[in-house]
Amino acid sequence: MMAAFQESTADTVTIVAGLESTFADELGALTVPWQGAAAPDPQLLVLNEQLAASLRLDVEALLSVDGIGVLSGSTVPVGATPVAMAYAGHQFGGYAPILGDGRALLLGELVSSDGQRVDLHLKGSGRTPFSRGGDGYAVVGPMLREYLVSEAMNALGVPTTRALSVVATGRDVRRNGAEPGAVLARIASSHLRVGTFEFAARQGEVLQPLTDYAIARHYPELTELPATGTHNRYLKFLEAVVEAQASLVARWMLIGFVHGVMNTDNTTISGETIDYGPCAFLDAFDPAAVFSSIDSGGRYAFGNQPAVLKWNLARFAETLLPLIDSTPDDAISAASAVLDTFDERYEGHYAAGMAAKLGLAHPIVDPALVDDLLTLLAEHGADWTGSFRALADELRGNSAPLDGLVPRDHIASWLQRWHDALAEHGRGAAETASAMDRVNPLYIPRNHRLDAALRAATDGDLAPFEKLLEVVTHPFDRRDEWADYTEAAPQSFSETFQTFCGT
Ligand code: AMP
Ligand code: MG
Repeated sequence: MMAAFQESTADTVTIVAGLESTFADELGALTVPWQGAAAPDPQLLVLNEQLAASLRLDVEALLSVDGIGVLSGSTVPVGATPVAMAYAGHQFGGYAPILGDGRALLLGELVSSDGQRVDLHLKGSGRTPFSRGGDGYAVVGPMLREYLVSEAMNALGVPTTRALSVVATGRDVRRNGAEPGAVLARIASSHLRVGTFEFAARQGEVLQPLTDYAIARHYPELTELPATGTHNRYLKFLEAVVEAQASLVARWMLIGFVHGVMNTDNTTISGETIDYGPCAFLDAFDPAAVFSSIDSGGRYAFGNQPAVLKWNLARFAETLLPLIDSTPDDAISAASAVLDTFDERYEGHYAAGMAAKLGLAHPIVDPALVDDLLTLLAEHGADWTGSFRALADELRGNSAPLDGLVPRDHIASWLQRWHDALAEHGRGAAETASAMDRVNPLYIPRNHRLDAALRAATDGDLAPFEKLLEVVTHPFDRRDEWADYTEAAPQSFSETFQTFCGT
C-alpha cells in the first residue's frame, strides 16, 4: 500500500524551486498523479553536487532532512505534481500494452543553467498503479550501479540520463534474501520512450499532442515544418530520432558497452542511454557477449545492438504512420525510406569513431582494416579498452602492452597496414598517440571492480564505490595511483559474471 502523503515544509520549496510539470499538464492522459512511499530511515548515500549546481539546486538544502525527503520520494515539494508515466513496450520481442512507471515517479521538470528543460525522476519510490506484480522498490546495489555507470558514460561523452543521488530508505526489500532499499534520483532530457509512443498510438487521440510535445522539447527546429506533405514535421521527427539513436548505438559499440535490455520502453526519443539494469562493459572483445541473466537467447548481445536498435526504431515508425500520411501505403513507404537510412547513418558514425580510435585524422577508414583488427581481438580474447591504449603505446615505441594482448606474429601484418594508413594522414607518431588517448578511455567501470564496490556498499562500506566513481568519471586522465583500475578481470571472474535485471 502507498504511504500517506507527507506535508512538505517551507524548506522543500527552496530545494526544488521552479519545478514545472509541462508533461503532466499537457499530456494528462499519459500520467497518473501519484506520491512516493515514506522511507522509514532515509540516509543519503551519494549526491552529485556538480550536477545539482548545474540545475541551480541548493546543495545545502538537498542535504537537509527535507532535501533527503524529496530525494527519497517521501516528501512532495510544494507546487510539484509527481506522476507515474504510462508506456507500453516490446520486451524481448513480445508486446506488453501496459508497462509504465511501476516503481518510478516523474517529480517534475527543471530548467538547467544552460536553458535546457530536464526531468527530475525517482526510481524505487514505491508501488504505483503500473506495478503489476512488483513491489515498487529498488535496492542499494542496482541503484548505485545505475548512478556509477551513467556518470561514467557521461564522462565518456555518451548521451545518457544523469544520476543526482541515491538515498537508502531503511526498508528491507526482498530480493535474494533481504536487501537494503534505495531510491535513485535521476535527470534526463525527458523520459519519452518508444514505448510512450506505442502506448499513445493505441490510445489514438493523445498521439498527435504527444508527438508535437516531443518535437517541441527535443527537436524544436522541426516545429516550423508543415504538419502534412512530403517534408512534414512528423517524418522529419522520425528521421531525427533515427539519427540520434544511430549515433548513440555507435557510441556504445565504440566503448564496448552492452545495455543488456534494449526493449522499446528502454529506447529514448532524445537519444540518451536510459535504464541501466543488467548493463556491462566488455572485458575481452566478443561480439556474442551477453551478461544479463535473463537474456538466454542472446537477443541483446553486444554485436546485436545496432540491429536490435533498428528493430526498435521500426516499432517507433509504426506508431507515427497515421501522422506521416493519411494514406497508409504512402505513410509506410515514406517511413520505410527513413528507416532504410539507419544502416548508413550507423556505419558512418561507427567508422568516424573507429578512425579516431585508431588515430586516423580523417573519418575515412578502410572497413577491412577495422574488421581484421576486430577478428584478431576476438580470436585472442583481447581486452577491448586495453587494446586501443596498447596501440597508442605501440606508436610511442612501447610494445609491451600490445604483446600482453595479441602475439606479435599474429598482429604484425595488421600493424603494417595500420602504419601505412597512418602514414597517408601525415601526422607524427607522438601526435597520433596523444589524439588516440583523448578518445580511448583508460578507465571504465570494469565488471569485477563494480561488483566488488557494490557488494561492499550493500554491506555499508561506501569507500570502494566512491573511489571507483572518481576513477571512472575521469576516464582519460592517467594517474599512477589508479594503475590497478586498468586491469582486466581475472579469468575466473569473467567466466561466471552475470548481471541481473529489474532489481
Ligand atoms: P525495466 O526493464 O527495469 O526498465 O522495467 C520494465 C518494467 O517493469 C517497467 O514498467 C518497470 O516500472 C517495471 N518494474 C521493474 N521493477 C519493478 C518493481 N520492483 N516493482 C514494480 N515494477 C517494476
Ligand atoms: Mg525501463
